[in-house]
Amino acid sequence: MLKVHSFQSLGAVDGPGLRYMIFLQGCPYHCPWCHNPDTQSISGGTEYTVEELVARVSRYRSYFDASGGGVTLSGGEPLMQRRGAAELFRALHEVSIRTALDTAGMRPDAGVEALLTHTDTVLCDLKFPDDARYRAHIGIPLQDVLDFLALCERMGKEVIIRHVVVPTMTDSPESVRSISALAHSVLRNPKIELLPFRKLCEAKYQKLGIPFPVAHLPECSPETIRELKQYL
Ligand code: SF4
Repeated sequence: MLKVHSFQSLGAVDGPGLRYMIFLQGCPYHCPWCHNPDTQSISGGTEYTVEELVARVSRYRSYFDASGGGVTLSGGEPLMQRRGAAELFRALHEVSIRTALDTAGMRPDAGVEALLTHTDTVLCDLKFPDDARYRAHIGIPLQDVLDFLALCERMGKEVIIRHVVVPTMTDSPESVRSISALAHSVLRNPKIELLPFRKLCEAKYQKLGIPFPVAHLPECSPETIRELKQYL
């Protein structure tokens, strides 16, 4: 059984090819620029069985199969529901549907390993290059994420590191260089994507009646992303 926040039938940016996106409910972290604040609460969401989800996904199979895509579990934080997620991914692999996990990482345990066994692609955020800001802004030690990535590497997973560039917080060349160095310290050949900070989610915060902690910061421009790519 999995607690689902929402579905998106054909996403194009969260894994190879076209993706059927399943956003799970619940996240223990508190990233200041979270674009899905409505998925954070562990209450809410709708429960689905693995069989129901496989049936739902299968209706779109011809679209994502033709593009080399598959199913991506996002959130929220899908590792919060790792047991159900592992069952879903195992069921999808049984019918040869490819799987991707969009996560912020978590200290590895047997449940994480079981989920990775049935994961083809891991999209993992590296949010800050230092432990102090990880603890202060996200709520976990940086080492937990590095240990998670090291496990992905040992298990031979395709890993794509994603880093949100937030003006005044993570947009210096030094910061981006450090992110790249961290990724290379645990992964042999990491792909790293820089994502621009956007404020499209502001309306969600207003609707929820909670403050958007980085509302005062400007969005990140495409030029900044282009410039910073040289430091990867
Ligand atoms: S890990 Fe994702 S869902 Fe959770 S707070 Fe951060 S951005 Fe939001």
